[in-house]
Amino acid sequence: MASLKESLWDPVAGFGVTFRTMFRKTFTEQYPFEKKPTAPRFHGRHQLNRWPDGLEKCIGCELCAWACPADAIYVEGADNTEGGRFSPGERYGRVYQINYLRCILCGLCIEACPTRALTMTNEYELADSTRESLIYEKKDLLAPMLPGMQEPPHDMQLGATDKDYYLGLTGAAVPAEGSDAK
Ligand code: SF4
Ligand code: SF4
Repeated sequence: MASLKESLWDPVAGFGVTFRTMFRKTFTEQYPFEKKPTAPRFHGRHQLNRWPDGLEKCIGCELCAWACPADAIYVEGADNTEGGRFSPGERYGRVYQINYLRCILCGLCIEACPTRALTMTNEYELADSTRESLIYEKKDLLAPMLPGMQEPPHDMQLGATDKDYYLGLTGAAVPAEGSDAK
């Protein structure tokens, strides 16, 4: 048989909790109708960055794929050619995929990237209803074209030398491959 405390006091105490909570500030978020900005360093969707002339920073080295603990990245590199340059170096990432069904947004791939080609944005809305739509291709990850950029393939367009190009020193264009100018 229930004691006097259980039958009388406990229901009163329970309602006391309810009553106190009614006057507390609510923390309900109206997502997705109201979206709050994330912390500045929040790990969201990846981005493949570009140099200021629009060439891609990715050199197709696969270090990000090897660093990934979830095996979420697939990269196939290829050689830049005369008239077919996508990055300033010898190689570029011909195929680049991130599988967001596997990715745990840990950021280890970012740490591994030698050219800062790969960074993470604050975008977190990565849910979808099909497997295919959650495997992001290179076109889904590439940074948008900004003013002054030109869609690759094209020659390196900034800096008098390769070193100037990488240091971001503007000036005459780097001589095109095969030209006599040095
Ligand atoms: S954030 Fe982590 S899990 Fe996602 S692709 Fe990069 S290394 Fe892999
Ligand atoms: S994103 Fe960086 S680490 Fe990954 S293949 Fe490209 S250059 Fe290499």
